[in-house]
Amino acid sequence: MKKIEHIGIAVKDLKTANITYSKLFNAPPYKLETVESEGVSTSFFQVGDTKIELLEATHSDSAIAKYIEKRGEGIHHIAYDVVDIHVERARLINEGFQAIGEIKNGADNKLVCFFHPKSSHGVLIELCQERS
Ligand code: ZN
Repeated sequence: MKKIEHIGIAVKDLKTANITYSKLFNAPPYKLETVESEGVSTSFFQVGDTKIELLEATHSDSAIAKYIEKRGEGIHHIAYDVVDIHVERARLINEGFQAIGEIKNGADNKLVCFFHPKSSHGVLIELCQERS
């Protein structure tokens, strides 16, 4: 693991949340991106070396919609930057972490994969690697 790449926050309304977080950071998001395959609209804010990703559901059965329904708005995942996502994913599975799905294309030009919060004390883990 190289560093915390970003922290993902589930929000009900991206427009409103963008205003809030633009005030917090005194800067607008550097990127807005919808990942239709994941059912999310996202925005990214640079915070020093790391980022904050805001996530809004684009439809009612997206994972973010279900998350908000169950737990309300809040921290949804922590994403770790890795050198080789295939190697690191295999290592974590071998260590007993429960993978969710396969490696896929995520927002912000990244390959991503996820691990169930059940296997990491309640926090969804995302691994990501810059797409070359
Ligand atoms: Zn993320």
